[in-house]
Amino acid sequence: MMKDLSKSCPVCGMAAKKQSLKMDYHQLTYHFCSTQCQETFLQHPELYSGGYPHHHNPVYKNHRITLSNVPKDPAKIRDHLQKMKGIKEVTLKGNSLNVEYDVLQTNLQQIMKNLDSLNCPVKSGLWGRMKTSWTIYTEKNELDNLSRGDAPCCNRPPPKG
Ligand SMILES: [Zn+2]
Repeated sequence: MMKDLSKSCPVCGMAAKKQSLKMDYHQLTYHFCSTQCQETFLQHPELYSGGYPHHHNPVYKNHRITLSNVPKDPAKIRDHLQKMKGIKEVTLKGNSLNVEYDVLQTNLQQIMKNLDSLNCPVKSGLWGRMKTSWTIYTEKNELDNLSRGDAPCCNRPPPKG
């Protein structure tokens, strides 16, 4: 028998209710609240396998993304992104989108996938593509470093009053 971890999502800490979203890793069973969190886990399982909240403090990133067109329904795009795990703030002006997110819970790749599904892809000029792949690369490196444990951890700032 495998040991069952408490049924909170190891990535975001929310209750994981869907029975189907689970996987075994190093002899433990993990339950996820969403496919997004499962994907995040799979990219760096060693980061989350201690279970929430044993992983690190949020690592917020801020990115400006240029969309290929001005969305007809900007509120829909904003709402959709804000429902993703780890998204802190979304501002959208014309086709310029600014997102702030916790790279431990989501990443640019997932955000871009969501934008694609909303028919609002990122503008695909050469410079845009280079910037995007560079960002995805540095985010991956950052998580690699975190999972090796050579980044500061547990210096949680005092909660906002
Ligand atoms: Zn989750």
